[in-house]
Amino acid sequence: VLANQIAVSLENARMYQAMEAMATTDSLTGLKNRRVFQERLSEMLRRAERHGGQVTVLLCDIDHFKRINDTYGHLVGDQVLRRVAQVVQAQVRTIDVAARYGGEEFVVVLDSTDQAGGRLLAERIRQEVQKLVLQSDKGAFGCTLSLGISTFPDDAPGAASEQRLLIESADQALYAAKRGGRNQSVTAREAAAVRTAA
Ligand code: GH3
Ligand code: MG
Ligand code: MG
Repeated sequence: VLANQIAVSLENARMYQAMEAMATTDSLTGLKNRRVFQERLSEMLRRAERHGGQVTVLLCDIDHFKRINDTYGHLVGDQVLRRVAQVVQAQVRTIDVAARYGGEEFVVVLDSTDQAGGRLLAERIRQEVQKLVLQSDKGAFGCTLSLGISTFPDDAPGAASEQRLLIESADQALYAAKRGGRNQSVTAREAAAVRTAA
């Protein structure tokens, strides 16, 4: 009887773990999903606000991904998403969060990291993605990534209560990276300087 009960408990625990993994993971890439990203970011921001720390967000978007899908097909496109996700995951520390933010967009949250630290990691990710050699029946090809970098509290002072501001400022920086010719990382501060000059 006891052995039976233990077996049932183990089975329940295993099922719970599987359900939890499904609820927190993006099934295509294995990265965390957007909900986990939002939860972890808000925790980190609350802690940073209490202790005067910094949190940096990297918003990453594959360049001309539509063209990759159109040229090599959707399945190859999916493979590109997996490979880029692996690069992103491999570059972050265990305390950081790497998540799939949307279709071909990934987001990284770096705890206790300033803008300079965010830039270093952004550039490492960008360079590693540039080295990827992807396969298709039309031959090998490469892909590139643009990144927007934003840091709490410098780029979004009220962000601990309003994390939307931090993401928006990373998104504006990403937009500046696209405008600047893609395959580059741009900080929120650089993007703001460009806007002021224009
Ligand atoms: P940009 O350099 O400006 O980012 O151009 P882009 O082509 O990457 O951007 P756009 O937003 O026009 O296209 C994104 C494409 O991503 C369109 C959509 O079909 C594709 N996409 C979104 N989710 C998936 C997915 O799960 N798998 C595949 N294969 N494609 C996807
Ligand atoms: Mg996009
Ligand atoms: Mg894109």
